[in-house]
Amino acid sequence: MNSISNKQLAKHFPLHFENGHTIETLAFWCVKCGKIAQDTEVLGQLSRMVPGAADIRASYHCNCGYTNTYRIRLKDDKSFTWLTDDVWHERRPQKLSAINHMQLWSSQTAYLIRLKWDCFWLHRKLKKIRNIIHISK
Ligand SMILES: [Zn+2]
Repeated sequence: MNSISNKQLAKHFPLHFENGHTIETLAFWCVKCGKIAQDTEVLGQLSRMVPGAADIRASYHCNCGYTNTYRIRLKDDKSFTWLTDDVWHERRPQKLSAINHMQLWSSQTAYLIRLKWDCFWLHRKLKKIRNIIHISK
């Protein structure tokens, strides 16, 4: 494994820019299996060579065996760019209108309710399976 750094990236956060923009933390996940990385599992370094920008090189070795590497540039205008599959992508800061904000909120809420519903049924099925295993012993 080509290690980027052995320091936890989380130690660089919260990240403050001169214009007052603050980034509390970043979320990372495995691009192979989707597992969300814990703060303590993401290693990396942060450099600030250009005013108003912070460059992140990070890695996360997932339980599935895949080693994720991340290249991210965070900017003080709330935009950021990241490198995936040798291509740079850019996310501009979104200015949400009140209607867009409501739509986003309602879709997120609907998704959460759906997720809780699925978890409820999954939990019930697991209980049944556990009982079957317990009885057959
Ligand atoms: Zn994984």
